Amino acid sequence: MHSERGVSRRGFISSAAAGLSYLALAPVAIRAGDSDWRNRVLPGSSLLQEEADDYDALAKLNFNENPYGPSEPVLKAMTKAFKYSMRYGYPDGGVASAIAKHHGVARSNILLGAGSGEILEVVGLTFLDHGKKVVGVDPTYGSVYVHASGIDADAIKIPLLGDYRQDIPALIDATNKHYREVGFVYLCNPNNPSGRTVSAAEVRQLLDGIPEDVPVLIDEAYHHYVEDPEYATSIPYVIEGRRVIITRTFSKLFGMAAIRLGFAISTPEMIDLMRPYSTGSVNALVKWGAVAAMEDTEAQQRVRKVTLELRNKAIRELATMGYEVIPSETNFFMMRTGRPVQDVITAFRQRGVAVGRPFPPMLEYLRVSIGTEEEMLRFMAAFKEIFPQ
Ligand code: PLP
Repeated sequence: MHSERGVSRRGFISSAAAGLSYLALAPVAIRAGDSDWRNRVLPGSSLLQEEADDYDALAKLNFNENPYGPSEPVLKAMTKAFKYSMRYGYPDGGVASAIAKHHGVARSNILLGAGSGEILEVVGLTFLDHGKKVVGVDPTYGSVYVHASGIDADAIKIPLLGDYRQDIPALIDATNKHYREVGFVYLCNPNNPSGRTVSAAEVRQLLDGIPEDVPVLIDEAYHHYVEDPEYATSIPYVIEGRRVIITRTFSKLFGMAAIRLGFAISTPEMIDLMRPYSTGSVNALVKWGAVAAMEDTEAQQRVRKVTLELRNKAIRELATMGYEVIPSETNFFMMRTGRPVQDVITAFRQRGVAVGRPFPPMLEYLRVSIGTEEEMLRFMAAFKEIFPQ
């Protein structure tokens, strides 16, 4: 157990710097289990083997989902769209144009995917040909690296800084040093699993510090949860014409993970390069649901508010018990437990609570998604049993 009580932000930074020094030394490896996404869909995922009843009974704090699901207006819009279930060509609510309008860009800037996970793969397929490499931090949302290794591409992985932020100067150096080999740079902002943001100034530093023709994929899956005033979306760089790809998803704040819709915002030229690799397999229900979800700002604010309140409450409680929790700008947080995380995951699972998978090299850290109030109470009760005071 961590001995500090009530870790302040400043105290956190110094203890983090000491605690994370090993990250820089940790071996760099790509493992098939590195991606949340893979764990969810590959045969052998433990959740898929559960009986549905067991699944329903679990407190599901492992995939950074929105536990409340789609709002009433969204459910209504999707119910109406059922009448198109048997069609191929059908009215789709103008979803791509609605997304474009919502984000202040043109229809030609948008590429839809069955989840933003599909777009991440499309970016890999488009830009990692001829032995090109992806550059990014570690740990991050590993699906990009897993996919790269699956198509025989390599990754240059930069350890997180001592305070768990992304090392922008090191990303710049690696990109410049390996310029000819770099297919694209991956920046998850805020980062999964550490939950920390890259500031608007750092994003600019990165883009200005590398050759203009290197594509930069900026994954903003958790954009809607950010409060940090130093953070900003990178969409304006697309409008400037930079070779930047922004990804967003309806899986998080909008609560539509299982019905799959994500998208890229990029320049028309980049979208044209990527389009041949996309499947175009987005279903009618989610298209209509997404249009309604973007309009339902009341539901967005409600989910965001309760999620951030529950997150902050859990973090405060854990800090009071003496645990170091990484400051989070997302609907999950990561904490140092001081025990091998696989054992901790198993202990939670025995108590009906599913928590995040291991994120090497942070193997004594646990990622916890923010569930409902009831799920968070179950998490805290299980935590106190597993880590008696
Ligand atoms: N990007 C990040 C950072 C994520 O955490 C996730 C899912 O957890 C995704 C992308 C993929 O989400 P989806 O394919 O559901 O849009």
